[in-house]
Amino acid sequence: IPGLYIVATPIGNLGDVTIRAVDVLTRCDVVACEDSRVTGKLLKHLGIHKRLIRYNDHSDEKARSKLISSMRDQAVALVSDAGTPLISDPGYRLVQDARSADIAITSLPGACAAVVGLTLSGLPNDRFMFAGFLPTKEQARLAALESVKSIDATLVFYETGPRLVKALDAIQTVLPGREVSVARELTKLFEECRTGSPEELAAHYRMEPPKGEIVLLIGPPIPEVTSPQDADALLKLALEVDKPS
Ligand code: SAM
Repeated sequence: IPGLYIVATPIGNLGDVTIRAVDVLTRCDVVACEDSRVTGKLLKHLGIHKRLIRYNDHSDEKARSKLISSMRDQAVALVSDAGTPLISDPGYRLVQDARSADIAITSLPGACAAVVGLTLSGLPNDRFMFAGFLPTKEQARLAALESVKSIDATLVFYETGPRLVKALDAIQTVLPGREVSVARELTKLFEECRTGSPEELAAHYRMEPPKGEIVLLIGPPIPEVTSPQDADALLKLALEVDKPS
């Protein structure tokens, strides 16, 4: 069936590709991908031969509208290098324009590093905010953390090995005392999830600079206890939350 298919792919462990993803990738007419070498490898592993078109949101308007017109009579699968397209990956503008052009769109769920990190970390997940990558420049990074400081939710960021310690130092400056998790190499052989204060984690990773891909999570603000009445109210709240439903 013609249209746009957003297809999530594994974030490391190839076993995480879904049966539905294999089905759509097998039956589609063309695969739009970020990097044809990366997607070529995945398709080869799956035994699928397909025409690949390189696409990212910086592709020019003309290329995007050509791809969208082709969706009227072809099934176009959109994949990114890893995980769910659009989530800190290309696809947003394509979906926006496809919607405006009344193209049928299907999104196939699958691996997403933010969700894997959140579920693995043990941090509260009843409310969370995904905030993508922190800015690379120090002042902008501090300002970005400042802007989310009072949000009552676990904050989820994407990070890279070389920038992790700088990010942890910035968290220590802006959000000291918060519980932090570093989830690395998720679904891969050397998967690791380490939780502690930003200070402890920075000290650890300064000694041992981390390799690979990282999800960085910051637990929600801890309510301040300023009076015995506050302590009572907090205790009641904790008992409420822990009550089995
Ligand atoms: N669209 C992808 C998704 O659904 O997770 C994310 C793409 S984004 C360009 C790449 C970032 O995702 C990495 O820098 C890292 O922060 C995170 N990431 C991707 N794979 C990961 C993995 N296996 N373990 C930890 N983090 C990962």
